[in-house]
Amino acid sequence: MAKILQVSQLGNPVLRQQAQPIDDFGDRNIQKLIDNLMATVAKENGVGIAAPQVAESYRLFIVASRPNLRYPHAPKMEPTAIINPRIIAHSSEVVKDWEGCLSIPGIRGLVPRYQEIEVEYTSRDGKLHRQELTDFVARIFQHEYDHLDGIVFLDRVESTQELMTEQEYDRRIVQNG
Ligand code: ZN
Repeated sequence: MAKILQVSQLGNPVLRQQAQPIDDFGDRNIQKLIDNLMATVAKENGVGIAAPQVAESYRLFIVASRPNLRYPHAPKMEPTAIINPRIIAHSSEVVKDWEGCLSIPGIRGLVPRYQEIEVEYTSRDGKLHRQELTDFVARIFQHEYDHLDGIVFLDRVESTQELMTEQEYDRRIVQNG
């Protein structure tokens, strides 16, 4: 049975650490961590979660885009475990859009991200993948990737004027979006 894990909040030093690569993809604890991360991101209405957010400082995250209470317009995809990711190329085009983070509850910010990225990662079965991602899914990937390097979305917001409480975001952005 997968377990719901406690999500570390901003201020916890684990969110600012450089996470370690995973060498043994088949390790039982890693496979279990993946199951628990998937259960946790679903329960918390997230679209992604990185291992450092549950105090496991590994280069591992889940991308799980689907419409939910926090992201009603998210595209639907199978939740995917991304291990030891690399961003190998990116578009010159950068787009700004609203992001939130399970580790920073109650706040949304406008974050610039590459519109398109080419990535390489290992999946939970140990296979190497190379893929092009665009728009919202590329945004999730870049957000979660940052967590592996100790970066949170607030670090990338260009102005504090581009921050909102979740309540104002729901009122102004979601209802018009
Ligand atoms: Zn986050």
